[in-house]
Amino acid sequence: MLRVLILGGTGDAAKLAAVVESIPGIEAIISLAGRTREPSTPAGEVRVGGFGGVEGLTNYLRQMKIDVLVDATHPFANQISWHGANAATTVGIPRLMLVRPAWEKLEDDTWLEVGNITDAAAILENQAKRVFLTIGRQEIASFADLEGIWFLMRMIDPPISDTIIPDGLVLCDRGPFSLENEREILTKHQIDTIVSKNSGGNATYAKIIAARELGIKVVMVNRPLIPPGEQVADVESAVTWLIERL
Ligand code: NAP
Repeated sequence: MLRVLILGGTGDAAKLAAVVESIPGIEAIISLAGRTREPSTPAGEVRVGGFGGVEGLTNYLRQMKIDVLVDATHPFANQISWHGANAATTVGIPRLMLVRPAWEKLEDDTWLEVGNITDAAAILENQAKRVFLTIGRQEIASFADLEGIWFLMRMIDPPISDTIIPDGLVLCDRGPFSLENEREILTKHQIDTIVSKNSGGNATYAKIIAARELGIKVVMVNRPLIPPGEQVADVESAVTWLIERL
């Protein structure tokens, strides 16, 4: 029996868990951070909550007799990816990263590319008035000091109670989002700028298409550096990699 720990929190991780559940000889546990109040529950065995740093994850891998680690976390969930890399090395087990490709800028796109959320906030000054902020709820406080900008802030759950919220409106919704939905939001709220992480994948790409069509600029936060190691770009390739280890 191959015991697999899937670090999750993404649609791809949930898909992978659903596929491996039906493969004889593989036993998978999927791990969620516990950020979302009502996560879409993946198939199979699920555990929720942090491990307690690299040491906690290392102990978990040993206690649960995990044979391989699949890091299928969001490209911006960087800390857990580095923890996974260090813990897998310490325990001496193979590790695979499932990393969906980043979105590529097309000719008609107007992107202002930045390296992090702080730079995204800084670049808005003096060039945006009505911003669609689509970075989740954890880092919205970085935009709270900006004066003269109205924000439409989309997130799955409402902001945590003591968060300083920028001036504007909170919209709680969960993807995938259709192109019609995104066009309507941008038009109705007279958005002039979108702030987005370069998450990749289809579930949240419609806002980028709608921005292209409407000539709206996008402040695109580029991905943080991920740990070195084996990578695949889709669920099918991750399944093949696991089957090769049986
Ligand atoms: P992060 O900054 O990389 O991780 C912070 C801490 O949260 C980790 O050190 C770990 O705590 C815990 N953690 C994160 N992912 C975990 C997992 N899958 N299982 C168990 N513990 C986990 O992560 P984040 O950016 O806060 O993201 C949290 C989760 O949301 C991730 O699973 C990610 O896939 C998902 N997500 C993130 C984003 C995003 O934009 N960041 C977007 C969509 C989904 P300990 O140190 O105590 O182990």
